[in-house]
Amino acid sequence: MAIEKLGQIALVRKEVHAWRRKGKRVGLVPTMGALHAGHLSLVKEIAKHADKVVVSIFVNPKQFGEGEDFEHYPRDLAGDLKKLEKEGADLAFTPAEEAMYPKGFRTTVSVAKLTRVLCGVSRPGHFDGVTTVVAKLLNQVGPDCAIFGEKDYQQLLVIKQMARDLDLPVEILSAPTVREKDGLALSSRNVYLSEHDRRTAALLPKALKTMSHMALEHKDLRDTEKKGRQFLLSEGFTTVDYVEFRSGKDLSLAERIDGDTRIFAAVHLGKTRLIDNMPVKG
Ligand code: AMP
Repeated sequence: MAIEKLGQIALVRKEVHAWRRKGKRVGLVPTMGALHAGHLSLVKEIAKHADKVVVSIFVNPKQFGEGEDFEHYPRDLAGDLKKLEKEGADLAFTPAEEAMYPKGFRTTVSVAKLTRVLCGVSRPGHFDGVTTVVAKLLNQVGPDCAIFGEKDYQQLLVIKQMARDLDLPVEILSAPTVREKDGLALSSRNVYLSEHDRRTAALLPKALKTMSHMALEHKDLRDTEKKGRQFLLSEGFTTVDYVEFRSGKDLSLAERIDGDTRIFAAVHLGKTRLIDNMPVKG
């Protein structure tokens, strides 16, 4: 069946209410579009938990800082709709910026603590933008469940915390990171990379794996982080915002490796910012 595309909040709400009245379970996949196989894996996964799948496509200005790539962020609505239709999604929700943030909009949803580390340090205000838009999308669509990628692991934890704290009647699901053959995590921003930078980018997941092995061999974690940072800079990454071992439960800095430890990194290659993370295991 052809995918339905709705931009108006009231119409989406009506459609979702109609489905739920018929006893259908509704799942939401929030995205910023420029869809790739990582996004489509979320559509596949949520379809296991829901009868109807809504995918929102909205490039959210509030989660971009000054001087970041909001204006240039890749957009391909026609291509996205084709991919979603092929994947069997039921509805694409494509709100306009004026509908999401009408004149006089004055509310920010903000989660404390989890947002003060990692990307919260290098992108101040970013997570407030994320939680504000996700809270709105959840209210607008009213799904039974919503899914987020482990690719943005900190975002996933922040959203879980928000849903818990605000008693949002929604189940938050997650799915593992989809990677290219050489290990690079799929990202809409990868299209910015030159051929040369694309080759360098593949060294990021490789470095995280090597660091994980070093950590498992009982190497000092802080020293391993320092060596990882030096390696990335020596291989041509422009800057390293962070490369850190932290708890996958609460993002506290890891003192030793346990079953929940993950390694997190954010780097720049020229103007392109890349993030990645993975569990530390043998
Ligand atoms: P974005 O469009 O970048 O806001 O991402 C929308 C959703 O897709 C978020 O939940 C991301 O974590 C998820 N996502 C992005 N890249 C990947 C990937 N490579 N694998 C799995 N999920 C992803």
